[in-house]
Amino acid sequence: MTYNINQKGFYGQFGGAYIPEMLYSNIARLKDSYLEITSKASFKQKFHALLKDYVGRPSPLYFAERLSEKYECQIYLKREDLNHTGAHKINNTIGQILLARELGKTRIIAETGAGQHGVATATVCALMDMECIVYMGSVDIVRQAANVSRMRMLGAEVRPAESGSKTLKDATNEAIRDWIDNPVETHYIIGSVVGPHPYPDMVARFQSVISEEIRIQLKEKIGRENPDYIIACVGGGSNAAGAIYHYLDQSDVKFVFAEAAGLGVETGHSAATSILGKPGIIHGANTLLMQDKYGQIIEPYSISAGLDYPGIGPMLANLIHSARATVEAITDQQAMDAAFSLARTEGIIPALETAHAFAVLERKKFLPEDVVVINLSGRGDKDLPTYIKADLAS
Ligand SMILES: *Cc1c(COP(=O)(O)O)cnc(C)c1O
Repeated sequence: MTYNINQKGFYGQFGGAYIPEMLYSNIARLKDSYLEITSKASFKQKFHALLKDYVGRPSPLYFAERLSEKYECQIYLKREDLNHTGAHKINNTIGQILLARELGKTRIIAETGAGQHGVATATVCALMDMECIVYMGSVDIVRQAANVSRMRMLGAEVRPAESGSKTLKDATNEAIRDWIDNPVETHYIIGSVVGPHPYPDMVARFQSVISEEIRIQLKEKIGRENPDYIIACVGGGSNAAGAIYHYLDQSDVKFVFAEAAGLGVETGHSAATSILGKPGIIHGANTLLMQDKYGQIIEPYSISAGLDYPGIGPMLANLIHSARATVEAITDQQAMDAAFSLARTEGIIPALETAHAFAVLERKKFLPEDVVVINLSGRGDKDLPTYIKADLAS
């Protein structure tokens, strides 16, 4: 048995491609060609050359001595925060822009909530001289002004989505509409392990460079490839999928996912999808989804814009459903405390998303010899206003 995707595009009961007829030819072309293209030696060579010299990979695996002492185990941090543009998202956008070029595409669309995926997409479009249109809810455009400026400076057009709640899911609907209208020259870069097959698998493969490096780096440092635990925060699930990819079928490596509980799982202001969600279809995939009894999506809430998504990637839904992975729901306040604690223990200011993963250390008891790898998915520069406000309030 494997926890990886099957031939039909499913992870257990989750996944698949539930898409409007008008998108069928685009998705079918992607599905039929992505493995062939990405496994070519010339593709791999370009991908890894850019990861090395443009992104700055391999990202270090850092033994966090003071944190290890504090929590009485062996903690290693996978430093995705040191990547160009400050997070893991660039791994995926580099892969997809190279794929888009191979497919002969000249125009890129993307959707973004917090703006991090929009910035990573605008970055690679500038690099590859491709037209770039990023859809973003008009509410998010106001909330995430700095990232909007970054995207514009990089040459992207940011198009506001004015329907519904004017946030991420509305931006996604606009992007899908655009792709239906422009099927030939356009590629749609999805930013996480979500959406119809083959996106979850494609994005997981691009992000799997993270676990590929962890294996090599752990072997060098401690003489074995497998840690006892991997901890990652989960929005859609791409940094988690990348960090665990090469360990999926190694049962001695335990996975712990940190979800955003927001104000608390039971408060109605939460994004703890795996706890509050039920199977349903979102963005073309069957997965765990926060929905009301009529199947309408419930608006998620988290202090961290990158975790506030009502679904979860189908790979992760399956890992959780089959008890291969466990989940900890971390509140806004617990994430905030973990961010200040990491800053003052190791001199690293994490992204608010990532801070949720660090809060798991307060919850779980590890053995002194346990090797715990935390995927440090991004840096906290973008969250400074939120951190400063919290510090002043306390
Ligand atoms: C976008 C983002 C996330 C959440 O997305 P995943 O697909 O779940 O990884 C987590 N951390 C950071 C730093 C992000 O920018």
